Amino acid sequence: MSRTIFERIIDREIPASVVYEDDEFIAIRDIAPKAPVHVLVIPKKVSARVDEIQDEAEMGRLWLTATKVARSLLPDYRLVVNVGAGGGQEVFHTHVHILGGWEGKIPF
Ligand code: 5GP
Repeated sequence: MSRTIFERIIDREIPASVVYEDDEFIAIRDIAPKAPVHVLVIPKKVSARVDEIQDEAEMGRLWLTATKVARSLLPDYRLVVNVGAGGGQEVFHTHVHILGGWEGKIPF
């Protein structure tokens, strides 16, 4: 399978605004933000969609990292995972969206 845009960002072939990185994860600002703050938390280990992750510790670290990064950016936030084309997923490399910063009405 061909490499996704996120693998190319992880490998620094394509630039991105990196807000957090460790050995296992990278968090970048979304190129087309759907909220005033929109960050993607991406495991470096390749999986196409979140339900491919079967290891509890790996899944736990993904959520712990997403909440840690979110809390560093925002007091309150929304975490979203689109799973499969029918769930709105466009990039088939697992990622968690951090959305927030709305000051008025919060969208659905
Ligand atoms: P999905 O719909 O797969 O859950 O979300 C993919 C997200 O990746 C979208 O919000 C889209 O704007 C973002 N995205 C797609 N290509 C790029 C890119 O090259 N750089 C960054 N930073 N975000 C991207």
